[in-house]
Amino acid sequence: MDRHSNAEIATSSVAPTEDLKLLAEFIEQLPEAQPLSDCSLGFPVQYRGYRELLTDWLALESARFHKIGTSVAGEPLWMVEIGNPKAPNVSVAISGLHPIEWIGIETAYGLARLENKNPSENRKVCFFPLANPDGFRDVEANLRARKRRWVRSNRNGVDLNRNWPTHFRASRGLVAGHNASGPAACSEPEVAAIVDTLDEIAKHANLDIALSLHSIGNMILMPWGGVWKSPVAREQHMRVARTLKERLGPYTIRQVSRWVPGVSFAHGMEIDHLHQAYEATAILVECTRGEVDALRPSALLNPFRVFNPQNGRERGARIAKALEPFLRGEL
Ligand SMILES: [Zn+2]
Repeated sequence: MDRHSNAEIATSSVAPTEDLKLLAEFIEQLPEAQPLSDCSLGFPVQYRGYRELLTDWLALESARFHKIGTSVAGEPLWMVEIGNPKAPNVSVAISGLHPIEWIGIETAYGLARLENKNPSENRKVCFFPLANPDGFRDVEANLRARKRRWVRSNRNGVDLNRNWPTHFRASRGLVAGHNASGPAACSEPEVAAIVDTLDEIAKHANLDIALSLHSIGNMILMPWGGVWKSPVAREQHMRVARTLKERLGPYTIRQVSRWVPGVSFAHGMEIDHLHQAYEATAILVECTRGEVDALRPSALLNPFRVFNPQNGRERGARIAKALEPFLRGEL
């Protein structure tokens, strides 16, 4: 990401229309595709594909759009703001770091719809709705071709939830593309663009709330992932996590590094950085249990089905409703 686009973000509240046009033009040149929910793909896919998703984001009339960079394969990366542009407090929601985890992406859209209807007056919410667009497009192409593939990384084979600066540790991962960190923190353009944007936001406002949306396990996760010790604001995280659990249902609360003692260290995670660099209360939600259907064991062989419930749009909207007060700073 170049410094010019940073400067644009700093002044974007004055002239936010430029990138709205850019997004509209970008969508216009994407090939028209039948909505996935209307396709016969072997199982119901009630999710938005790339063009449909961007079109629906674009239709949020309170939203301000910013192109913050480009992916490895050259896809635009977007940041979407809703709420008072000059608010002293900022919340951040990131989705799609792991590209097969579409329920997290639908949940982010659900949150944006809620914010759009009722924008905060004393807070700005910044969404990074599709952190890994190349991976997302690969997943969509696989679905349309009925290929059962698991996509975890970006086009460089890097897990974008191991590439953040805090507690970064270079690792190739156990299996190609699984937990591979990349050669250095922010080596990947997708993570670098988000971190640069957040750094810029944090110069002008108090970035105090951060939510990252993932897919599988019904979990509310808190920092740290990279070290054993407790997070700086453990009590605050626990309080938020317990309230979210009351709202979400049977979810498990964990500190990532203590999930499986000695085994579950995750270096270079987003929530560690969001908490360390900006002192945000940083929560990662694994949105659903995972669709492990005992009656249809064949679903287990389909990674998309394992990671995403069937009724994605409706589930995403429901989870969003439960998470909304946290994102609005009301917890
Ligand atoms: Zn994930």
